[in-house]
Amino acid sequence: MATINEHFLKLRAGYLFPEVSRRVRAYQEKNPKAKIISLGIGDVTQPLPPAIIKAMKKAVDEMGNKATFHGYGPERGYDFLIDAIIENDYKSRGVDLDRSEVFVSDGAKCDTGNILDIFGLDNVVAITDPSYPVYVDSNVMAGRTGEANTKGQYKKIVYMPCTAENGFIPALPKSHVDIVFLCFPNNPTGAVATKKILSKWVDFAYKRQAILLFDAAYEAFITDPKIPHSIYEIEGAKDVAIEFRSFSKTAGFTGVRCAFTVVPKQLKAKGPRGKAVKVNPLWSRRHSTKFNGASYISQASAAAVYTDEGKEQCRKIIKIYMRNANLIHSSLARLGYQVYGGKNAPYIWLKTLSNMSSWNFFDRLLQNANVVGTPGEGFGPAGQGYFRLTAFATPENVKEAMGRFAGI
Ligand SMILES: *Cc1c(COP(=O)(O)O)cnc(C)c1O
Repeated sequence: MATINEHFLKLRAGYLFPEVSRRVRAYQEKNPKAKIISLGIGDVTQPLPPAIIKAMKKAVDEMGNKATFHGYGPERGYDFLIDAIIENDYKSRGVDLDRSEVFVSDGAKCDTGNILDIFGLDNVVAITDPSYPVYVDSNVMAGRTGEANTKGQYKKIVYMPCTAENGFIPALPKSHVDIVFLCFPNNPTGAVATKKILSKWVDFAYKRQAILLFDAAYEAFITDPKIPHSIYEIEGAKDVAIEFRSFSKTAGFTGVRCAFTVVPKQLKAKGPRGKAVKVNPLWSRRHSTKFNGASYISQASAAAVYTDEGKEQCRKIIKIYMRNANLIHSSLARLGYQVYGGKNAPYIWLKTLSNMSSWNFFDRLLQNANVVGTPGEGFGPAGQGYFRLTAFATPENVKEAMGRFAGI
């Protein structure tokens, strides 16, 4: 009989979102008239802007015409998109990239998991607590961890707690680590990292010969001009960091699928007999062996994000979300909550009232205000006593939800 990858059995059940849905469904069945508002979703709600739809329709028409039809494209992405990425996302910020350093894909979620293929199983991985669950689970599947303890923390992973005390910025690990996942602006805490903080991490990685896996999926939500959008805005980062970007939250592509990963040519890791080996060719091999390119239609649509019209229209949508974030932040602060994030990120992270557990707060909010959020402990044990709200809702719903918060 075939055997399974037993590491999958170590995974704790995907408990968080199914449990949220279960509780919401149960409440709605008992209270059919309740108008529940969700501020729990991590998905965009505004439709794609017209400039992108226009490009998408054009691409669809091209696919229906013999002269302009596209079959398999380059696995690493079309140059028209790679060039637009380099020019707009990097050159404009003083970062020079070569086409060979950018890999277009169908998602940052898969890239942050798949990148682990090219690294040895003996690497010690550091992950923030709380964090986007993909970083932990994909390492468990690969066999880079031991079993989980009762708190849900896996052996061998170095957890970096992020709490109000450290401003949700992880301290540099004291023990040995080889790979560090960082996400700024952060999901779920909404924390952002200044140039000084990122420089500290780049220095750390350089000294410890570690690699930073930098998830910048929310860079478009940065409004403060002093906050870096890319890790490569930090000197020396090309020697130590891989960066993940996505059109999902930037341009509403969660249902279209297009993202990219930057692997600098000069980035190295340890190979046989301790010899330093370039990482870029390994990712290129991995990418082109197991992936056949993002669809032409997605890439043509993504390129429209960089046109003047596209930029303007995407910015408008982000403004809608950021106005929501602002309203959530200010309303809750006025009600006396300790509120974090929501300034350069679409996530608001709050401390529950009177040290209530995350789930008790969830129930109270659902029952007394008919508002749904996400219990912080679902993102890791350090999230206990915290709660995540997202700005991805309509302004009307956010306003209504904030009014109801007053009554709980
Ligand atoms: C939404 C999100 C992404 C983007 O994932 P896609 O697969 O590109 O849709 C990446 N990282 C984090 C932390 C996210 O929340």
